[in-house]
Amino acid sequence: MGCPDIYYERFVREADRLITYSWNTDKVTPLEEMEQRISGYKHNSDFYFNCGIAAAHVLDNVQEEEGGDAFNAALGGLSEFESLIGNDDEDFCEVYDKQIAKPVEDKKVIKDLNGNPYTMEGTCPTCGAYLTMHGSYYCSWCGQYLDWDIKETDVGDE
Ligand SMILES: [Zn+2]
Repeated sequence: MGCPDIYYERFVREADRLITYSWNTDKVTPLEEMEQRISGYKHNSDFYFNCGIAAAHVLDNVQEEEGGDAFNAALGGLSEFESLIGNDDEDFCEVYDKQIAKPVEDKKVIKDLNGNPYTMEGTCPTCGAYLTMHGSYYCSWCGQYLDWDIKETDVGDE
């Protein structure tokens, strides 16, 4: 099992990279200085948006390349990172939460006149908007990533 501190540092450096629009992660600057830099940025919605994306980048990467144990350590690092940037700010949590697919609520299969299913309708689990399944898996109202669980109902198959 990995050490959360390693991942904490990755969150900090990735956030800094996104905020400064750099192509490359700054690996030269000591962590303490990076922390001061992060704390020094204006904590507006852009800042939290970038931090949310940074968290998603690092977590995706860890999950794909290092697996479950590392992912748990990374979550430890994430909570450390959240306290650095002020974890009670809802902007940050919202952006990050919406990257994780949530099941659509009150899901209904809509059938055509011949009784064949052709689409699904349901409610966004985050904002409660009434949705029809289109090509996009994101709620067009709040940006929530949605899980329509198509396998279960087999819309459009056969
Ligand atoms: Zn929504």
